[in-house]
Parts: sequence; C-alpha cells; structure tokens
Amino acid sequence: MTDTLASPPGSARSRDPLAFLTAEIEELKAKGLFRRLRVVQSEQRSRCVIDGREVITLSSNNYLGLNTHPKLREAAIDAVRRFGAGSGAVRTIAGTMSLHEELERRLAEFKGTEAVLTFQSGFTANTGVIPILAPEGAVIVSDALNHASIIDGIRLTKAERRVFPHADMEGLRTALAEVRGAPGGAERTVLVITDGVFSMDGDIARLPEIVEAAEAAEAIVLVDDAHASGVLGRNGRGSIDHFGLHGRVHVQVGTLSKAIGVLGGYVAGPLVLRQMLEHRARPFLFSTSHPPAVAAACLAAIDVLESEPELIERLWQNTRYFKAGLAALGFDIGASETPITPVIAGSGALAMQLSDRLFEEGVFAQGIGFPTVPDDRSRVRTIVTAEHSREELATCLAAFEKVGRELALI
Ligand SMILES: *Cc1c(COP(=O)(O)O)cnc(C)c1O
Repeated sequence: MTDTLASPPGSARSRDPLAFLTAEIEELKAKGLFRRLRVVQSEQRSRCVIDGREVITLSSNNYLGLNTHPKLREAAIDAVRRFGAGSGAVRTIAGTMSLHEELERRLAEFKGTEAVLTFQSGFTANTGVIPILAPEGAVIVSDALNHASIIDGIRLTKAERRVFPHADMEGLRTALAEVRGAPGGAERTVLVITDGVFSMDGDIARLPEIVEAAEAAEAIVLVDDAHASGVLGRNGRGSIDHFGLHGRVHVQVGTLSKAIGVLGGYVAGPLVLRQMLEHRARPFLFSTSHPPAVAAACLAAIDVLESEPELIERLWQNTRYFKAGLAALGFDIGASETPITPVIAGSGALAMQLSDRLFEEGVFAQGIGFPTVPDDRSRVRTIVTAEHSREELATCLAAFEKVGRELALI
C-alpha cells in the first residue's frame, strides 16, 4: 500500500486540500473585489456606528425603520417572557405555536389571500415553494434578474427552465407560446416567476402584462414581493395591490426581513397550496420554525403598517428627494422606480472604491459587483428609509457629489 490518505504532514505527498480556496481569495484581492464584513456596533438605524465610525447608512432594507420601533421591541420582549426564547423544533414535530398561526392569519388577511405559511426566511420560502409548484415535466419561465433564492429554488426542481431577458414582455410571451405550441405542451404545468420589485435595480415588474400573458397561456404566476411589501400598495400590501391585480396572481412570496423589520418569509395563496407546503416543503419540514419573539414582532409590524401609514408616505417623500438629487448631480441611476436607487460605477473595482470613499466621508452604501450584477454594471446600491431626515439625505448627496467628481463619475 503506497497510496494513503494518512501521509504525515510535511511529507512529499502532503497537499492542503483547501488550497483552491486560498487561490480564489487571492484572485479576488488581485481584482480589488475582496470584501470584509463591516461591523455595526449600534442599532441599525439611519445613523449608526459602523467599524467605530458614526455614519449615515444607505444600505439597510429597513424601509420603515420598524426594526427599532417601540411596538416591535415590546412585542418581542413580551413573547420571550410568555413563550421563551425558542420554538423547540420543526412545526410538524413539536407542534405549531399559537403565535405562528396568528401571524399567518393576519398575513393572509393583509395580503387578501386564502392562506399563508411562514418560513424561516424569504430565501427558504422560495426554495420551499418552487419545487412544489413545478413537478417533473413542468416548465418554469423566469425573469433574468430574479433573486438568487428564486434561481436556487428553480435549481431544486427537475422542471425545464426558460429565462427571458429582464422585463422583456415579448420575450415572456414568446417563451409561453413556444412551450404551449410544442407537442404535448398544452398539458404541461407552466410557472411564471418574477420579482415584484427588482432588488438590484429598483424597477417594478410589469405585472399587468405578465398576468395577462400568463392568463392567456394558462400558466401559474408567482410574484416574489420581498422589496415591495411595506413599500408599494395600500399600507404596503405590495405590488399586486399596487396594480389592482387581486385574485389574478396565484402565489405571492414575501419577506418579513426587509420593511417588516424582523426576519422570515412567507408564501401567500390558496389553502391547498399551504396544505401541500405543510406536507412537502423541505425547509418547512426539516428546519426549525421562528422563535416566538420573531412571530410576535412581525404581528406588531402589521399593526404598525395599518396604523401608521405616514411612515410609507415619508419613505416615498425621501425617495423622490434623494433620486432627484442623484440625477441632478449627473449620476447614472438606472431605471429605478422605488426607494432602491443604484449608482452605476462601471467596473467592480470602481464600485468598491466609490463605496470605500463614501464611507470615509461618513456614508455607508455598499458596493455590489459580480456575480450579483453584471461586472460592467457594478454599482453602489442606495436605499433610503422613512427614518432618514432631510438633513441626513442632503449630507449623503454632498458626499456623493464630492466622491463622484473625484472618481470622474460625474
Ligand atoms: C431579500 C430577498 C429575498 C430573501 O429574503 P430574506 O428574508 O432576507 O431571506 C427573497 N427574494 C427577494 C426578491 C429578495 O429581494
């Protein structure tokens, strides 16, 4: 026996089996794309302490400032006192807590659907529901810029995939016509998936056209409203409400981690879907449910959405002010229609440089490059919230002006 795994370290045969990781990290460093996590040392608010410095953040998804809202804090603390810190196990085994059931009833009412099932995150909601909706033999038709969790959900299926160019309605209709026109195509399950608001560009899906095309092709429609919930529609009911499409979108995925300010995801739709998810969705069956404090804080967040609509009004006032400011300075801000505004820098290294210089000027806006966005459309992504004061946003615009000129972006 000469070939053995147990060669002693330092012997001629010893190789570090993880050496490929070091090589990949070196490559990121060489390209100026290596990132270190920034450490937030305060509450996550419009102004916070990051890496020891007080900055204004334009990087959180905390659209309405709910993560530190007194009603959510109180609800979380009260739930810990009454129900403890953890939920014990997955809901099919340990039993489902009354708080989980109450949250799902409230969410279903809020979204105007028959039923809701919550998941640990928006990510697991997608990886849980997509395989249920696309059994073997199905076809999934998906927008090219859909979120990574949708892409991973699709990867977990044996369905055929068709990706249409971003927001290209002709591309969508063509894909649907080809699927239905092919031999046996009339019988197949077809699932159309789109983000409601696209997370890196901030544009809104063309839902009326998507729904019409899907109806013509008798396809299921799934809208992932992660960035639309709490932002669009009456009291933040989302993109379906924004467009008045109630009853015409079969399945909605939402997150409780962004505007809702806590953590989690959910699938809203017909009761049979919830029942199937309870029996088959793997993140639901094999991963523990939310701690009681999470469910309680989410319930309080729905109360706030219903009782404090002025938060959403302020979010949109800030959005209009900040976008207009960036555009007036001459930045390329893409085609955003929501509080997400990308500032396109070009190369990944330039986007990271823009982000780093802004940070030195007291503004935290994360640089985003490949593979999240195409390399030549690397950017700093900004998100304003209802919490930002006019003065804070003016300070941010001044920093963008200074650094933008320095880097010859404007
Ligand atoms: C953020 C996001 C998710 C993931 O939500 P989490 O609750 O953070 O896991 C899913 N889909 C879209 C479109 C998102 O933007």
